[in-house]
Amino acid sequence: MSSAARSGSGSSRFVRRALGDRAPRVLSGPVTVCIDRPLLALDRPFTYELPEELGAGLGSVVQVPFHGRATRAWVLGETDDVPERMLRIRKLVTAVRSFDEPSLALFRAMSERYVAPLATVIGRAVPPRVASEETSPWTPPPRRPLPAPGTSRIETYRDGPRLLKALRTGRGAFVVRPAPTDEADVAVTCVAASLAAGRTAIVIVPDADPVPATARAVADVFGDDAVLFLGGDKRTRYRTWLEIAAGRWSVVVGTRPAVFAPLADLGLIYVDREGHAQHRDERSPSYHVRDVARLRAEIVGAASVLSAFCPSLEATAREHVLVEPAVRPWAPVEVVRPGPEGRSPRLIRALRSATRAFVFEPLRGYGVARVCRSCGEPAACASCLGMLRLERGSIRCVVCEAPGRCASCGATDFGIARRGAERVEEWARGVATVPVSLIGRDDPPRAPRAREVLVGGVEALKDVGSPGVDLVAILHADASLRRPGVDARERVLVTWFEAAAWARPDGRVIVQTDAPNDPAVQALVSGRPDRFRRAEAPRRAEAGFPVGSPVFRVTGGAELDRELAALEPATLLSSNVGGATICLVALDAGRVAGFGAEMRRLAAAGIVTRVEAEPHL
Ligand SMILES: [Zn+2]
Ligand SMILES: [Zn+2]
Repeated sequence: MSSAARSGSGSSRFVRRALGDRAPRVLSGPVTVCIDRPLLALDRPFTYELPEELGAGLGSVVQVPFHGRATRAWVLGETDDVPERMLRIRKLVTAVRSFDEPSLALFRAMSERYVAPLATVIGRAVPPRVASEETSPWTPPPRRPLPAPGTSRIETYRDGPRLLKALRTGRGAFVVRPAPTDEADVAVTCVAASLAAGRTAIVIVPDADPVPATARAVADVFGDDAVLFLGGDKRTRYRTWLEIAAGRWSVVVGTRPAVFAPLADLGLIYVDREGHAQHRDERSPSYHVRDVARLRAEIVGAASVLSAFCPSLEATAREHVLVEPAVRPWAPVEVVRPGPEGRSPRLIRALRSATRAFVFEPLRGYGVARVCRSCGEPAACASCLGMLRLERGSIRCVVCEAPGRCASCGATDFGIARRGAERVEEWARGVATVPVSLIGRDDPPRAPRAREVLVGGVEALKDVGSPGVDLVAILHADASLRRPGVDARERVLVTWFEAAAWARPDGRVIVQTDAPNDPAVQALVSGRPDRFRRAEAPRRAEAGFPVGSPVFRVTGGAELDRELAALEPATLLSSNVGGATICLVALDAGRVAGFGAEMRRLAAAGIVTRVEAEPHL
């Protein structure tokens, strides 16, 4: 069969198949719509009369008169609740439907969970329309037969067979800790199991550039069935979205927005490196991909898989099945005390004999200014009193980036305490028997080459496959653990696990620390993050932000304090910034819906101006 014969007319196929295999139902009479105005005060359905001849239905983009102006809106469905005065929907904007019933259920659940307007959620989930893409035809290439499902190491994992069974026929929430050498293979195997059952799959990765090794592996194996939905211009993104909705692809690999990819018959949503900061959207509705993945999987009856070397507290706080190797697949981790200038004798010896090594140094630059050489005062930035750092030969403020000048006398000559990646590179050159290089912030992330010692920070640690180096050294572990932030310690541990995963199973990992008994260090040494989680969960609860409790930052007027206190939240911290009241609120999970209703009421009353979800993560 020729590809042209299979495809039919492209544009009509989009319109007919966009969102769902069946022709979408045409509605008429009273319907509710979501007005495209992202305001909590307007976050409720409005009822309009939908004329049948428009051919519109659930998910249709329409134009309605709203406060006297033509406004965009989405049709949500029929309603019996008819107001006395009902305006008519004026026109249908496009024949392409923005969402179907299960997607709307997901958007509504997100609107409730994150206390965000439904219009904001839809605006994030559906890419901006490029009308010309709706009329250009597309021609699918002939489909390849699926790769025969081979045996995978995941079958030997604890609860691995249970996961594969769920992917073939069922649903469920899974957390997977792949062996470093299996990371891409586990994702490929899960997708293959879903496809073999006639279902589709979404794989979400944290980065688009460079494309993570796991994303590339899935795209390579599933070739003509898989599409990369990451990066790209507006036109490409909308076209890809249309193709997904039309059923052109069975596997979607992408970043955050891919969690909304309009695939039918979804069997799997796979989140790779689920603890990564990029999986959270900083803009409203501030969703985290792992939560949306679980929500959507529950709604459509699919399996969700959260994958990480060190699963986050959030991933494991909810009911799940843990899938992990039956035997430790990691290199052993040695803990040593830092010697003079952060160099332990054991690390020096290990670097001397290593031919391929990665030295993780989280601090940038060559050192920090300690004291002014002119006036003898402690060094501080003349503009903002910030810390001054020597990096690439010049001294700058780490806060405001102004050139380094003494706050007391204006001089520019400082005594430097040497520490940071540039200094490590320098001394490592004097020790190693192979070339030493430094990977900077602007360099593309990569693993060490054969016969190379690579020094780098967190920017270097991306999914580049399993490089299998001889030696991974983790420096400044203590300083990392002292960073501020509710989840800072967890992020550090996730980073260490990702660094350690670069070592060959029979290689070496050396951690330099003065706190060998810290639960984070112990978790890395034992390879068991649950130890760390047991210590960390009470710490977070004590700080007022228990794991799994929704947290909101609410901005508003002077009465805000009193109104929020009346809701009796688990935690309420309040401050006044420039005339606005800003409150941090933690709730028990079961109380979000009631809280959201109250925030919408207070927004309509002008008391609440802004609600942000999870500002602490
Ligand atoms: Zn400064
Ligand atoms: Zn001075």
